[in-house]
Amino acid sequence: MKGWIERVLRRLPGYRQEHPLAHRLTMYVLVCSLGFALLSTALQLGIEYRREMRLIEQRLELIRTGYVASLARSLWDVDDEQLRLQMQGILYFPDVSALRLEGTEATGVSAMRLPGQAPRVSTREHAFILSHAAPEGVRELGRLVVQIDLDAVLGRLAWSGVTIFLSQTLTLLMIAGVLVVIFQWLVTRHLESMARYARQLGEGQLDAPLTLARAPAKTPDELDAVVAALNDMRLAIRQEIGRRQRAHEQLAFSRDQLKDRVEKRTRSLRAAKEAAEAANRAKSQFLATMSHEIRTPMNGMLGMIQLLRQRPLPAPVGAELEVLHQSGESLLATLNHVLDYARLEEGAYLPESVGFSLRQLVDGQLRLVDAAARQKGLALVAEVEEALPDAWCGSVGGLRQVIANLLSNAIKFTPAGQVTLRVHLAPGEATGRLRFEVEDSGIGIDAAQIERIFDRFTQADESITRRFGGTGLGLAICRKLVEGMGGTLDVSSTAGVGSRFWFDVPLQRAAVERTTGSESVVDGMRDDAAADGPSLSLLLVEDVAINRQVLVGLLENAGHLVFSAEDGVQALEMCRQQGFDAILMDMHLPGMSGAEVSRRIRCDADSLNAGAPIVALTASVAPEDVRHYLDSGMDAVVAKPIRLDNLRQTLTKVVRGQCAPALVSAPLQDGPLDGRLLAMHASVFGPARLLAMLAQLAVQAESGAAQLAEALQREDLYEAEAVAHRLAGACELLGLGECGRILRALERTAAADDLSACRSLLEQFNGRIEPDIAAGRDYAAAMAPA
Ligand code: ADP
Repeated sequence: MKGWIERVLRRLPGYRQEHPLAHRLTMYVLVCSLGFALLSTALQLGIEYRREMRLIEQRLELIRTGYVASLARSLWDVDDEQLRLQMQGILYFPDVSALRLEGTEATGVSAMRLPGQAPRVSTREHAFILSHAAPEGVRELGRLVVQIDLDAVLGRLAWSGVTIFLSQTLTLLMIAGVLVVIFQWLVTRHLESMARYARQLGEGQLDAPLTLARAPAKTPDELDAVVAALNDMRLAIRQEIGRRQRAHEQLAFSRDQLKDRVEKRTRSLRAAKEAAEAANRAKSQFLATMSHEIRTPMNGMLGMIQLLRQRPLPAPVGAELEVLHQSGESLLATLNHVLDYARLEEGAYLPESVGFSLRQLVDGQLRLVDAAARQKGLALVAEVEEALPDAWCGSVGGLRQVIANLLSNAIKFTPAGQVTLRVHLAPGEATGRLRFEVEDSGIGIDAAQIERIFDRFTQADESITRRFGGTGLGLAICRKLVEGMGGTLDVSSTAGVGSRFWFDVPLQRAAVERTTGSESVVDGMRDDAAADGPSLSLLLVEDVAINRQVLVGLLENAGHLVFSAEDGVQALEMCRQQGFDAILMDMHLPGMSGAEVSRRIRCDADSLNAGAPIVALTASVAPEDVRHYLDSGMDAVVAKPIRLDNLRQTLTKVVRGQCAPALVSAPLQDGPLDGRLLAMHASVFGPARLLAMLAQLAVQAESGAAQLAEALQREDLYEAEAVAHRLAGACELLGLGECGRILRALERTAAADDLSACRSLLEQFNGRIEPDIAAGRDYAAAMAPA
């Protein structure tokens, strides 16, 4: 029992938290029980009080009937002894605390007092008149005053109030306790287990249904209704989860299918693109070959016609010969156009940069078309801005070709009026960009046709083809040439009023001139190295466009015929189609590595180059790397940054079957820029082309830096390593030594998983690249003849 009480007392403080509802119910029952007990006690006390008062009244009545007459007789008889005895008798009545007898003067009895117990605080007095009935009438003898003790009455009432209150409270408390226990047993504990169950549902425990720990009721009550509702809810949740899982699986399945289809589609599109590119290359090569092959007999035929024209012939034969001559000339022009276009499409035809006189160029061009203009009665006008200097450096061959084409079109499509050739600075340019304009007052071009005329083999409309002939290649070639020079070609025209064709090209000012024929050539522009060693057919495998461009330029300038491939797959394909004297292989290619491509070229049964020497181009020249390259079947390794003379010597040796040194390297010059490399590029490509390459490098560096920042943000150090590698090669090749060194360091730290070092190296690179490219530009500009 003691242990049980202790347990209850221990659990009491926590009861309120554990069972708040039962606690509240207990409190309400307690307060109400107390109220009821108080009310009932007060009611019972009222009844008790009235009963006491009635008893007192009955006793007073008994005194009146039993004692007052005998007391009056004793008083009349003056019998004190009797009086005292009678009064003593009255004192024995309960609650009578004292008696007082007050006689009148006639009786001679002075006041007599009989006190009972100790004097009381609260009393009530009642007086009886004592009288004697004499023959002469009723005589009043005195008064008897009875004092009632109210303290005793109140004491009894208080005691009975306390006992009533205590007994009632106890009863009610017992009832309340039993009620609370019943409520806890019937309701609260089930509510608590429902709450626990609902929490488990929320946590995803949906396996077991809810059952209450009680015997099943005959008729379901409210608790059963709640249990049923909770169990229904569990089933609904399970169904919903199942439905979602199925939807999710369906989605994942569809996604995988979609991915698969996209991959297949990408593969087939890539294959289609490669096939289209190969077909395009084959078509261009075919066109070039055919045009070249046809041109040789054509030249012979035209030469013979020329000879025949000089002989005296009968008039009709002479006229027919003239037609034959003109047709032959136009056929030759068409073949030249096709050949030019094919070479431009291949990217192999880039007119070289030389110094020239602007006014001589304009005069020469006008002289060429002067006869044709005069024949049609057209005025030919030249307007060269007076303030423009005369000596310039640029691709004069390309300029000549474009101007000649525009002038010949203008004359062709102008029946009357004038054709003007204008040269001035391009709008908004202080120096360095010239605008050439050819304006005519001819038939003009429809607004609907104007966009199409630059497409190859396209003329404004059918009637033009019929009236004027032509291939529709002229403007396409012009646009390609102008773009090749870093410029833009455009037109504005109104049908029936005339047309204005113009192009802006960047050109360098030239100062030192030595005249060769009608134009000037600037010193140092040509590379006489072509004389060194044989002219080779080479395959360059390099994924970075700018590196490809530079190396192709250098090698072509050295007199070699260079084909290029962007990756291993393309290289393998080309090796199956054509034999090369040597293959230059970048080691760090996307997808298949250079070593792997070389191994496959050596082992491929269809390869026409299994025995061709392969030279590795790489920046990774640790002894184990070099050994690995040689083991993969390479004949020599040329370290990046590549020097043309090193490459040329190595090529000569490997092609002659001589033993080339395993590793040929030329370290970059110290300092931000490698002056020797820049000087070589300036002399090989010309300052204008070098400037264009530096501009291209600036664009590539900007996007590379953004890619690096993004890769480092994602903590993708693999991607950062690859981007740094590509960019480093381009920087080194163009002589930006310091940027190349920073990027190589970034490549190494990315490989070593050092993210914070990579970030600080990227910051260094971002701080360097712009000033270094600007310095490179200044260098290239300084190389240009002032
Ligand atoms: P084509 O070699 O046949 O002349 P081009 O490419 O040079 O072809 O020109 C394409 C078409 O552009 C021409 O057929 C002609 O319709 C239109 N065109 C070119 N120049 C002029 C011009 N100055 N005035 C009107 N139309 C021209």
